[in-house]
Formats: sequence, C-alpha cells, structure tokens
Amino acid sequence: MARPTRIEVDVDALRHNIERVKSCAPGRKIIAMVKANGYGCGVSAVVPALDAHVDAFGVACFEEARVLRKFTSRTCVLMQGVFQQHELFDLAAAGCEPVVHQPEQLDWILETPLSQAIRVWVKVDTGMHRLGFDVPTAQTVIAALKACPWVQDNLAIMTHLASADEPCHPQNETQLALFSQLDLSDGVFERSISNSAAILSFPEALADVVRPGIMLYGVSPFSDQTAALLDLKPVMQFISEIMAIHTYAPGARVGYGGTWEAKRISRIGVVAAGYGDGYPRHIAPDTPVYINGQYVPVVGRVSMDMLTVDLTDFEAADIQLGTRVELWGAHLPVERIARAAETIGYELICQISPRVRAKAVMISML
Ligand SMILES: *Cc1c(COP(=O)(O)O)cnc(C)c1O
Repeated sequence: MARPTRIEVDVDALRHNIERVKSCAPGRKIIAMVKANGYGCGVSAVVPALDAHVDAFGVACFEEARVLRKFTSRTCVLMQGVFQQHELFDLAAAGCEPVVHQPEQLDWILETPLSQAIRVWVKVDTGMHRLGFDVPTAQTVIAALKACPWVQDNLAIMTHLASADEPCHPQNETQLALFSQLDLSDGVFERSISNSAAILSFPEALADVVRPGIMLYGVSPFSDQTAALLDLKPVMQFISEIMAIHTYAPGARVGYGGTWEAKRISRIGVVAAGYGDGYPRHIAPDTPVYINGQYVPVVGRVSMDMLTVDLTDFEAADIQLGTRVELWGAHLPVERIARAAETIGYELICQISPRVRAKAVMISML
C-alpha cells in the first residue's frame, strides 16, 4: 500500500475564491499569483483551474514562467524580472513581461536588441524598501523605456504595500499618496498596487490590475480575520492516515526526547506525516488534527515522517488504522496551525514537500 500522505487541491474552492476577487475588484484585470509552485498547491492543478478566469499569471522569475507554459498560453509577469541578461531573449520570445526594479536590469533591457516588442513593468518603491525605484527615479526609468524601440509605450507601473495586512497602518496612505505622485501624463500606462490584503481592504487602491495571491488559495492575509469571515474557501487539504495505534500504560513516554508522558492508560495514534512532509516541527501543545468530525490533539514531538495523536478520549470505532486525517484544510484552517507554529499560513502551504506535492490530487467538493 502506498504512503497515503498527499494534498488535495479543491478546484471549486479556487473558483469560488477567484469570484471573490472579481466581486472585490469589479472590472479590474487580474494577475493570479502562482509563484512558489502555486503557493505550494502545484501549478499543474492551479493554473488550468484559473486559466479561463484571469488575465495573466504572476511568478517570481523566468524559470517559474517556463514551467507554466505547459499549462497556459496566458501572459506571465515576472515579479522580480530577469536575474541574467540573456534571459531577455527567451522571455521576449515567450511573451513574458518582466518587472524592472533596479538600474542593472534597465541597462540590460536597453542594451539587448530584441526583435519582438516586450511589455515591461516598472516597479516603484513607495516605502516597502525591498525592490524598486523611488518616484523621481521611476520617472526617468519610464522615460528611458519609452525611448527604447522594443518597449516604447508597452509599459505598466506597479508598487507593493508593506502593511496592507494592517489596514489602519499609516504606511498604507503614505505609499498610496507617493504612488499617485508619478506623472503619467505622457502615456496611459496600466497601474497595479494591490495584493490580497489590499484587494480586501482598499477599494481606492484597486487601480487597473490586481495581484491576488493568498486569497486565491483560501487563506486569510489578516492575522485577526478568518478566511471564513472573508468568504474564502481553503484550497489545500493536507491529508494523511492513521498508520498505527497503540495503548500505553501511565508513565509511558511518546516520541523523541520523551517529552509527552501518558497520565492515564492512553491510546496513541501514529499519523503518516511529519516535518519531512511540510508539517511544522514546532507547534504549541494541543494543536489539533481533524479526524472524522473531531479535533484530536497532537502529542509528543513531530518527527520527520510521523506525528502522534492522543486518541484516548475518542471512540475507538471512529478512528482506526487507515482512517483519514486532515492536518489542515476545509475543517481545520491552515491559519490555526500557523498560529500554533508561530508563523503564517503562507509559509506552511509553500513548505509542502515535493514527496507530498507529487501526490497532489484535484478534488471537487460539490
Ligand atoms: C506574491 C505577490 C503578490 C500576492 O501577495 P498575496 O499577499 O499573496 O496576495 C502580489 N504582488 C507581488 C509583487 C507579489 O510578489
């Protein structure tokens, strides 16, 4: 019997979530962010499901765009642009659109004679202070690209908000104000500002093109609002099974370091998933898994291939060898596990390991 640990990608949830994007950002173009292999869900599942509903796909780099070619003919926007000059030839031939965020990349574009026109996104740093040109410099970059024969008016501009997940943070207004200072009077360029958090909280920042990521996967971008409250449906179900069940006497210790000790006669289930699969090793006591309608606590240390759960308080008939275990998913939001691991849902879904992702299956809950 094959190891049962897998992810299930709920394509109906994905479609529901893209409709949410459309209702928040009516009439706007959508670049669906599928970097990091579709936020861990696998682009082979995610991209075909979204293809008819979006305008373009957003990836980190050209290597990711290449993989997408198998699944879509839509434009790919490379959020960090090119890392090497020679990539420009291939990406132009593939119709990809690079972001330009630093002078070296600008020089590469200006110096590389391209036979096809390419569309270029100028990244404006309005306060995130990670990538991009400040507003006055962006103005000169735009002028230089407009004069470049293989770019000309094929330009768009974007910025990224550092604190959109805290809608009341004053940095948001500051960044929006700075972005609006760009003088675009000599060209009508598309503008893009919003990630998921901004799409959900700043209607005034929708601009022309939105860039939803995490909300497509049904995970809340906010620490204080659940996905359910935002009417988003979890796309990734992280699933395994019970692979062994034991009964231990009081005093028995379970797992590495013997950190958990049975205080009573205890029925312990072993689940076939561990940190080698992408389940976080450090979790708060009593972090649950979901089994057959019930929330069952994880006990002892999470190991590489397995974790242990305390089944003592649950009906033996309900939970047996081979019973399905949801590590996160429709009944147990990844945000709950992220909190227990002192991280964010983004990190957990992206960390699903290749041996699990290789077994991704598409499901339809309808
Ligand atoms: C990843 C990314 C997004 C999407 O962010 P979410 O918070 O996942 O919605 C938007 N814009 C850029 C530039 C990104 O890299």
